[in-house]
Amino acid sequence: MTQYAFFFDQSRCTNCHACAIACKDWNYGEVIKSSYVKWLRMMQWEKGVFPEVEMHTLFATCYHCEKPVCVDACPNHALVKEDKFGAVLLDEDLCRGSRQCWIACPYGAPQYEDNAPGTPMTKCTMCYEKIVAGELPICVAACPQRALDFGPIEEMKERYGDCRALEDMPVADIAEPAIIFKPRTTKQKHVVYDAARVVEVMAARADTGLPAVYDDSTDVTGVFDGLVGYDKLVMKAASVEENLARSKNEEG
Ligand code: SF4
Ligand code: SF4
Ligand code: SF4
Repeated sequence: MTQYAFFFDQSRCTNCHACAIACKDWNYGEVIKSSYVKWLRMMQWEKGVFPEVEMHTLFATCYHCEKPVCVDACPNHALVKEDKFGAVLLDEDLCRGSRQCWIACPYGAPQYEDNAPGTPMTKCTMCYEKIVAGELPICVAACPQRALDFGPIEEMKERYGDCRALEDMPVADIAEPAIIFKPRTTKQKHVVYDAARVVEVMAARADTGLPAVYDDSTDVTGVFDGLVGYDKLVMKAASVEENLARSKNEEG
């Protein structure tokens, strides 16, 4: 079997969602386009406090794993790993919505239109029709930042190394995802930020009659409740509503 794989460069990604929109536009058709279903979820989560804030992003789809735990978990044999590209594909006629694939998948890749038990699953197809025709998956082709790539896994490894999990993701050996990651580069500090100095400068405003904005350096660096929209990576959300909220809603 030949295994194909994605590549995702976390530093290049600006979380513009062009890939997610392209996936919806190409694959879903009018019926699913405005639903909760998101085969490709662009995740973002913020870490640290000002001025050391880091925004993390993640291309989260089915990674067509080398060890696809979802395939074995399905009691209805609705999932298969095909030979030509190593794509994990769903036979929609066999799916009974038992959600065993979702329970097994570390990445929350199987998608549901509704929370009701028995709702059939749908998922990323690796853009099978396109790759058979020798084209790239539409998400990869759509990325304006060149943050994505796709090809035989050995080629991807040769080009980009063999990192299979980014910080905060589940460990790779559960399913051995067919994706290579390039983690974000560490932020460079060209000018050292001094929160105490900010308070001093603000205090000097009193001479001009302007009110002080900050009284204490923690006012400058503190993170207040409700300020951070995406505070952690959640790949397996508890409901379709949370799944949508965690990965932003392109329709909203
Ligand atoms: S299109 Fe590229 S830059 Fe934009 S969100 Fe997707 S991977 Fe990131
Ligand atoms: S990402 Fe999840 S659904 Fe996709 S092949 Fe891996 S285990 Fe299966
Ligand atoms: S490979 Fe195709 S189906 Fe899968 S996330 Fe990319 S665009 Fe969507």
